[in-house]
Amino acid sequence: MSKVANIQAEIEQLGGQIFDLADKYGNSRSLFGKKDFYGRLMEWSMRDPLFKTQMFRFVDVLPNLRSSDEVVSHLSEYLNDTRTPVSTFLQGALRVGSFIPPVSAAIIRKNIGGMANIFITGADSKSALRNLRKICKEGARFTVDILGEAVVGEREADEYAIRYRSLLDFLAEHTKSWQTSAPISENEPPFVNISIKISALCARIRSSDPETNIAAILSRLKPIALRAKELGAFINLDMESHGLKELTLELFKRLADEPGLSDYPHLGFVIQAYLRDSYRDTEKILKWAQQRNRQFTIRLVKGAYWDFEKVFAAQRTWEIPVYTSKIETDANYERITRLILENRRYVYPAFASHNVRTISCAAAYARTLGLTPGDYEFQMLYGMATSIRRALVDLGYRVREYCPIGELVPGMAYLVRRLLENTSNEGFLRARFGANTSITELLRDPASQLMERGDRLIHHADNPATHRSLHHRPISSDSVPSFANEPPADFTSSSVRKKMAQALQSVRSKFGHSYPSIIAGRPRISGELIRSVNPARPDEIVGLISTAGAGDVVDAVAAAKRSFADWSKAPGEDRCRLIELLAAKLRENRYDLAAWEVFEVGKNWSEADADVCEAIDFCVFYAQEMRRLNEGRLTQETAGEVSIESYLPRGVGAIIAPWNFPLAILCGMTVAALVTGNTVVIKPAEQSSVIGAQFMNLIEESGLPDGVANLLAGNGETVGSLLVVHPDIDFVAFTGSREVGTEIWQMAGVTHLNQRNLKKVVCEMGGKNAMIIDTDADLDEAVLGIIQSAFGYQGQKCSALSRLITIGETHEQLVPRLIEAAAALNIGLPEHPSTDMGPVIDQAAFQKIQSYIEIGKREHTLSYQGHIPSGLRGFFVPPTIFTDVDPASRLAQEEVFGPVLSVHRAEDLDEALKIANASPFALTGGLYSRSPRNIAQVRSEFLVGNLYINRPITGAIVGRHPFGGFKMSGSGTKAGGHDYLLHFTFPRVVTENTLRHGFAPEIHRQSSADTG
Ligand SMILES: Cc1cc2nc3c(=O)[nH]c(=O)nc-3n(C[C@H](O)[C@H](O)[C@H](O)COP(=O)(O)OP(=O)(O)OC[C@H]3O[C@@H](n4cnc5c(N)ncnc54)[C@H](O)[C@@H]3O)c2cc1C
Repeated sequence: MSKVANIQAEIEQLGGQIFDLADKYGNSRSLFGKKDFYGRLMEWSMRDPLFKTQMFRFVDVLPNLRSSDEVVSHLSEYLNDTRTPVSTFLQGALRVGSFIPPVSAAIIRKNIGGMANIFITGADSKSALRNLRKICKEGARFTVDILGEAVVGEREADEYAIRYRSLLDFLAEHTKSWQTSAPISENEPPFVNISIKISALCARIRSSDPETNIAAILSRLKPIALRAKELGAFINLDMESHGLKELTLELFKRLADEPGLSDYPHLGFVIQAYLRDSYRDTEKILKWAQQRNRQFTIRLVKGAYWDFEKVFAAQRTWEIPVYTSKIETDANYERITRLILENRRYVYPAFASHNVRTISCAAAYARTLGLTPGDYEFQMLYGMATSIRRALVDLGYRVREYCPIGELVPGMAYLVRRLLENTSNEGFLRARFGANTSITELLRDPASQLMERGDRLIHHADNPATHRSLHHRPISSDSVPSFANEPPADFTSSSVRKKMAQALQSVRSKFGHSYPSIIAGRPRISGELIRSVNPARPDEIVGLISTAGAGDVVDAVAAAKRSFADWSKAPGEDRCRLIELLAAKLRENRYDLAAWEVFEVGKNWSEADADVCEAIDFCVFYAQEMRRLNEGRLTQETAGEVSIESYLPRGVGAIIAPWNFPLAILCGMTVAALVTGNTVVIKPAEQSSVIGAQFMNLIEESGLPDGVANLLAGNGETVGSLLVVHPDIDFVAFTGSREVGTEIWQMAGVTHLNQRNLKKVVCEMGGKNAMIIDTDADLDEAVLGIIQSAFGYQGQKCSALSRLITIGETHEQLVPRLIEAAAALNIGLPEHPSTDMGPVIDQAAFQKIQSYIEIGKREHTLSYQGHIPSGLRGFFVPPTIFTDVDPASRLAQEEVFGPVLSVHRAEDLDEALKIANASPFALTGGLYSRSPRNIAQVRSEFLVGNLYINRPITGAIVGRHPFGGFKMSGSGTKAGGHDYLLHFTFPRVVTENTLRHGFAPEIHRQSSADTG
């Protein structure tokens, strides 16, 4: 028999024994076969996916519900959406509840509390002690983890560190006499064993700056580890989402190298086998161990965040970091199993799985290497597979149970993960105990199953194009690819961080150059040169800008007009290709462009990168949209007649752009005009003129004919107005303030004698955006969403949050955490990767924001104002929060365009909506709520252009969130949406009578009506 067949035979034999013994204990079977609330919930959830979603959502919100009425109404709202007999049954129970809610609510809480107790060992260390003792009496060991809410501030992170230290002391003291009755006590790892999530030890993790994160976490983790060493205890670093993986591994190495710990072997971390790069990570860390002759523990898991990783990566157009088929994960787990067993010298392996095949494989392979059960251990989650744990103990293996402790509210995320795992279609426990899959099937070798399928494991190591864009497919004219957004830079990757750092250095060396206007392809320096400065260090000149005058305006418009004839007639496909070439140029220069934004407008790394990505998206999206428009549209199928609607360009456009999205908005408005066949005169904001010049440079490099796009550098007030009133300007695309926007609207309405067309104005203005926080909101998420929406890019986005409306008692819980989270924001130079908030754009903005802060101080309660670190000399304004703000006050009604948030209280949702809608603007709005009924009401009654539910209100993505508002926020055009290009065209219909002497040809749906 071959070695492989031998091992398979041994796995089957051991697996059979485990199953036999587990059946004897029978607990896990009853986990699925129970007739209690949990058993029913599992059974119904597995039968009905909609019920599962709704019920798990209810479980998630339950601990936050304060009154019995709320419990009963939420359950009925969630079940309303399901149509199954199950929900009919529960609805019957709820009808009783509608008469006597306290009774129903108490029963519901008791059942869900009981269900949580299956998986959570105790509300605190004291109450967990009895269950921990039981585990030990049954011959197993434990590792204890403290469940918690997301940490948003330094105080919360400090508290966690204190709780972990107390836990160590508590366990050391109370478990002294327990160390008996394990199958293998020889060489046993420390009895006291805790598991820590690193995110609980850091107020704010910034992917762009691992060094600062590591320093912050180490400052809290090291004392815990030193205390563990004093007590002879074990510390494990759990692994969370993929975004924290590099950080966790690096942190582990740094901790292990710390003086006082470099000889301590009782430290460990987790490898998640569902990650494609996990095998390579394990190899790398083994090499590190080899170099230092270092010993430690690896807990090998499959991974608990599979759904999240898929969604998170897909939303960013990143390559999905996890395997997408379960057998790939299983096969990879076994491959890493072999690798760490072969390196037993350095690694004490802890195989964390409830899957009997996975477990048997580890034991069988260990035996072939001559290892004994004391050389490694198995780990399981508390409450998940007690019968398998007991079977393994009986068979003489060392087993440790992972025991979370905590209250129900922080425990909910953990509970829902367990419920999901237990009802997952692909999970082992469900297959074995829920679906009665045969033992032979359950013990099959995943690697051979993969081979049978003709697949092999693909690792990131095999595939160097990790994190590449998914949509860089060649485009051919006969295949219109589906649009995919440009992937944002993944700053968790060190090579990406390096590129950004290099770009910052290289761009800085180009400071101080002069930038001309470009008219008909020729540079023209005119007027005096004005300085564009770095708002973080105003004495630093980023570039010198020519100031175009009236003559330049006349020449630029004339150049655009001359070019219109050819450009508008060029085949639409040619224009699309040129715009796609521009996208490629932007992509090629993405880090340099982001670096210019960091210096010229004070964006931090991620904000700057996001703006460049959006610019690329606009090019690709509008090119694709143009192909669709280009086909024309058969208006109606009528025998004997063909009517085709197609689109003509409007003419010459003025593109007047703002500084806050200096590339994205400038590029979006420009390419929408160009791709539809118009020619343009571009006027970037003077504060972001250098970025405008970089953009113009790339337009030229992309090969657009001279004169199709012309750039006027300089002062907006003079050049902008001259452009708008010019009789040869056919349309204006403007984004900026309400004052300027309404003025342009008015000026464009005046028709001159020799004017060709009525001027169209595509106008996007500001907002006074509100967010409502419902009584049942997930405050962990709400706090982070508010911080991002209100203080991202210093509040200088038209979509930024400036009015926060809390309902009922939410205020008391939310505001202190919000203040803590605001205090954790790092104010600094945007070029530093750790900076959250940089300067506001210029002196005028600084003064305007300060004047509103003074009004706020006079009229309302200043609840928080951040502190500007000494040594910063730029236009820095700290995050500022006012409470008790009258919704009719100036602070609540006027656009501040800075990091100033006013908080309003409402009695109920109706009042909250009234406050939210009482604004002259209607741009973005938001809601955090877990009540389906309230979500539905807000959907229909909150009147804004972009409404976001349970997420931040900034960061619209091209194609996904067509962006723009109404009222005084804009003319209702939606940038990045399907209708946007229409604003740059005249629709036209050509009708042909196709009947000739009674003969009518068949109608062909496909028609070509190139606008060119
Ligand atoms: C003691 C202990 C500690 C743990 N600590 C951590 C930790 O720190 N971090 C962490 O992330 N997890 C941790 N886990 C959780 C663990 O990842 C899950 O419990 C585990 O994945 C379930 O695996 P299994 O082998 O028991 O079950 P199985 O049913 O064999 O495997 C289920 C797993 O397969 C994977 N999977 C499911 N569907 C697919 C698919 N379509 N394609 C690819 N893969 C798929 C998922 O990882 C899923 O969890 C820990 C588990 C234990 C027992």
